[in-house]
Amino acid sequence: MVKETDKKSESEKSKNFTEAKENIAQNEKLLRTRMSKVKHKIAIISGKGGVGKSVITANLAIAFSLHGHAKKVGILDADIHGPCIPKMLGIRGKHLQGGPMGAFPVSGPLGVEVVSMDFLLPEDETPVIWRGPLKMSAIRQFLSEIVWGNLDFLFIDLPPGTGDESLSVMQLLPEMDGVVIVTIPSEVSQVVVKKAVTFARQLNIPIIGIVENMSGFICPQCDAKYDIFKSGGGKKISDDLGVPFLGSIPIDPMICKDSDKGNPFVTEHPKSSAAEAFMNIVEKIESFLEEKKNKEETIAIKSSEKHHS
Ligand code: ADP
Repeated sequence: MVKETDKKSESEKSKNFTEAKENIAQNEKLLRTRMSKVKHKIAIISGKGGVGKSVITANLAIAFSLHGHAKKVGILDADIHGPCIPKMLGIRGKHLQGGPMGAFPVSGPLGVEVVSMDFLLPEDETPVIWRGPLKMSAIRQFLSEIVWGNLDFLFIDLPPGTGDESLSVMQLLPEMDGVVIVTIPSEVSQVVVKKAVTFARQLNIPIIGIVENMSGFICPQCDAKYDIFKSGGGKKISDDLGVPFLGSIPIDPMICKDSDKGNPFVTEHPKSSAAEAFMNIVEKIESFLEEKKNKEETIAIKSSEKHHS
């Protein structure tokens, strides 16, 4: 015989389940509305950590702002366990401000709008100890409940590898323009780049291209070039895998110094060869987007012609 208390707990469970389903559906609707106002979404990924993915994300966002998109660029720092974008852009210690419409990003240099787990942690040493579903839910909320507004670009800085966060972002944003893959020239790094390329291909996300970071060091004293992590590995892997190569960024001690101080390198040292390399990458990404738009328009025209014939 089913006890009265069992019956009650069954009906409560089913009510909770229905409520949870409704919440997700509502959240999904909000996510679609909010994300429809962002023209381009680009994720920055790397096979392994420490290759400069966050530095590249922060400086690309600033470089795009300088390239006619000031106050129209956002960064979602989706590295839940090791968020560094706020530190690199000098906005560490700030908090997301809530309003009736949702929470607002923190405005960084050149009006770059930033959302990061770092803004939600009470102290510097607080680690985030979460399993996959909780991380997925946090990323979903970052995309849906933040008032991103009308943006030209949203850059998503993903943690290294092909784990939960990367999968969540790709699944939540299937309309994403594509991914930029960051590597260093060494062979060790190239092996993991292959995994990142396969990951994007399996999820049907376009690969905008590969950036080779830490590509050689030019001695400021004698002008000699030292290939500390070798060089040309990024180009080689691009050719091997049939993926566009976006450019190389040299090792420049000022990149590290500026990032530590919270100053964007591309505005601090605009004449350096590394800053020029960033601006060239911006142009390559813009060409990729232009080409993608033209292809989509051609497909749309062809399909409407087919429809009318
Ligand atoms: P990731 O996000 O891949 O883990 P980061 O962007 O945090 O890597 O970079 C790791 C460290 O290397 C940081 O201290 C950063 O300032 C430094 N760095 C990254 N790229 C360069 C570069 N091209 N020249 C000098 N230092 C760099």
